[in-house]
Amino acid sequence: KLHNTIQELKGNIRVFCRVRPVLGKEQEKEERMARMVFAPSGKAVELVEASKSADGSKTVTKALPFAFDRVFDPSATQTAVFDEISQLVQSALDGYNVCIFAYGQTGSGKTFTMEGAGPSPNDAVLIDVDDAAALNAAAYADDHRGMIPRAVDQIFASAAALKEQGWTYTFRAQYIEIYNETLRDLLAPPNANQSIKYQIQHGNGRTIVTDATVVDVTSPAQIHAMLVRAARNRAVATTNMNERSSRSHSVFSLAIDGVNATTGESGRGTINLVDLAGSERLNQSGAVGDRLKETQAINKSLSALGDVMVALANRDAHVPYRNSKLTYLLQQSLGGNSKTLMFVNVSPLEKSFNETVNSLRFATKVN
Ligand code: ADP
Ligand code: MG
Repeated sequence: KLHNTIQELKGNIRVFCRVRPVLGKEQEKEERMARMVFAPSGKAVELVEASKSADGSKTVTKALPFAFDRVFDPSATQTAVFDEISQLVQSALDGYNVCIFAYGQTGSGKTFTMEGAGPSPNDAVLIDVDDAAALNAAAYADDHRGMIPRAVDQIFASAAALKEQGWTYTFRAQYIEIYNETLRDLLAPPNANQSIKYQIQHGNGRTIVTDATVVDVTSPAQIHAMLVRAARNRAVATTNMNERSSRSHSVFSLAIDGVNATTGESGRGTINLVDLAGSERLNQSGAVGDRLKETQAINKSLSALGDVMVALANRDAHVPYRNSKLTYLLQQSLGGNSKTLMFVNVSPLEKSFNETVNSLRFATKVN
């Protein structure tokens, strides 16, 4: 019985590994690929580490096996990946709090998985989000849409279908960035006051970030405009957008409230989709000033997330949510009656081998 309970609890944290394909520009540069063997079960991957023997006369190889709930090889499409999370997404409509994370080094495919391949942030600055034609022109190619737009589409379609049974749903979205342990509103209007101090407030099964924009979502089409707006806000915050986004976490949250006029039932769930800061080992020794501060903030929050997930998997009495803004923001969606999925995104390149091993080890620890 106890064993079953533990299994159930563990069942609430799942880890999927996704290996991105080699990109065209990497092919042109003839980048070498890491050696990876994908198990036919779709649930394990083995990395093959090659090194010189002690006397340098030959190459010896060592297999490093990793098992996950699911492993996607580079050929996996966004549609195939979404298929595997659609039930989890659905449970947010059933009243669960769901968290989906993308963890991995910069360039491993986290944003591609979460948002998709949209206009580059620098291009996003040029798009007028109030101009439907301009937005449509910048729309993501269908198969390149990521988990956020797909999740919202599915939730809206299911909500429409549940209408017949008396259910009416309302949806509210927020998109928050955490940079250096400070919160920013990614949906803020262009002329917003930059000096607002956002605060996290928990209450009544809901988490509120004070003063942050809340969008009443009435159609999935609004999501695209929100993603473009968020990309613009990220770009405006920095001269080098890719740098900034790789060093901050972004948390997209959709709060779902349902009432059933026929039965009098009601329910509330939340789905959070989190694009984490790059997990690459940041060398603190060489860093100074702002860079050192960023590095410490990232190390702190990613290890705090790992600690929370390990504490939940072990059923520890104390779960250290307060050790970072990220875990504190997501407190109500981690543990308890909630469901968590972590994508560990990895690069297929040989030069990323060490980071890939680090990421897979982190993910194994929380699984
Ligand atoms: P991250 O957010 O982890 O830094 P990105 O999502 O920006 O990484 O991915 C890096 C590059 O690889 C981008 O150009 C992205 O479009 C591309 N990419 C990532 N994953 C895939 C994939 N599964 N299929 C095709 N291109 C991908
Ligand atoms: Mg990214």
